[in-house]
Amino acid sequence: MRILVTGGAGYIGSHTVRQLLTGGHEVTVYDSLEHGHRQAVPAANLVVGDLRDIDHVDNLLVVNRIEAVVHFAALAYVGESVTSPAKYYTNNLLYSLQLLDRCRRNGVQKFVFSSTCATYGVPDTVPITEDEKQLPVNPYGNTKLAFERALADYAGAYPFGFCALRYFNAAGAAEDGTIGEDHTPETHLIPLVFQAAMGKIPHVAVFGTDYPTPDGTCVRDYVHVDDLARAHILALGKLAPGSKLAYNVGIGRGYSVREVIATAEEVTGRKVPVKFGPRRAGDPPALVANADKIRRELGWSAKYNDLKAILETAWRWHKSHPNGFGE
Ligand code: UDP
Repeated sequence: MRILVTGGAGYIGSHTVRQLLTGGHEVTVYDSLEHGHRQAVPAANLVVGDLRDIDHVDNLLVVNRIEAVVHFAALAYVGESVTSPAKYYTNNLLYSLQLLDRCRRNGVQKFVFSSTCATYGVPDTVPITEDEKQLPVNPYGNTKLAFERALADYAGAYPFGFCALRYFNAAGAAEDGTIGEDHTPETHLIPLVFQAAMGKIPHVAVFGTDYPTPDGTCVRDYVHVDDLARAHILALGKLAPGSKLAYNVGIGRGYSVREVIATAEEVTGRKVPVKFGPRRAGDPPALVANADKIRRELGWSAKYNDLKAILETAWRWHKSHPNGFGE
């Protein structure tokens, strides 16, 4: 297929691009490089541009005769979304709606969307199924949910099908250690734990020890980035006009912040300095996927199904790239 990947030079995007290319697809990566990294994708596939420049995107859809769009490009800092909602509604919703409409006008019938478990807010039941009510507790989740709704309405009215993949916590790096996680600023637990292990930061702050979880710290479902990437490939294979698909992507097992730190100490053989602190606003106590639906319908399964295996790949990346992509 001829595929446009927005945000394809980012963390999950670049791992997906690699699998798409291995699968023989013709891939155009569209990335502003504001958060993405030039080195994360082959130069020949990269078009540098901003989603706000919708005519540029439109031109690519036409000239490259795009058949499917995989849409990663978005802002994804929950805390920032609370203080700067305008930025999130503009980037994640307005620009996505513009992209969606250009897809409609140019006959692109397949669309895979990076959604999130943040669309569930504080779930009633954990592990979370796709039937859980979607009531986000922050603007980031609201923008992602609003776009899921737009996709469903388009699929109901036009010759168009979509799949929303609701990611749990992406983690790990390519098995060969050549691409991995590199955010500026870094706010995610696992990279920060490794930075603390390497002495790049003095300690990792644990956000809250009084949650109603077995050890008082938050529980998350960490899924390997290559397993997440494979979900996109499978979704593309399943899509047809009228498809309205939504899947949770997680391993179905939760680990607490303390468990992540202990496992990282085991993997690195180093002590991770820790400072216990207050809760971070907007963090639900536990988010764990029930991923039965994607297993059943797409034949997806996690190759990495325990945290240690995931952290080993992440450590290989962080150790060999202490400054990330070094930009
Ligand atoms: N967390 C933490 N200290 C940090 C960053 C994160 O204790 O410096 C916790 C956070 O409260 C959450 C979990 O680690 O429970 C995963 O957070 P992350 O930011 O990696 O991903 P999120 O769940 O926000 O997508």
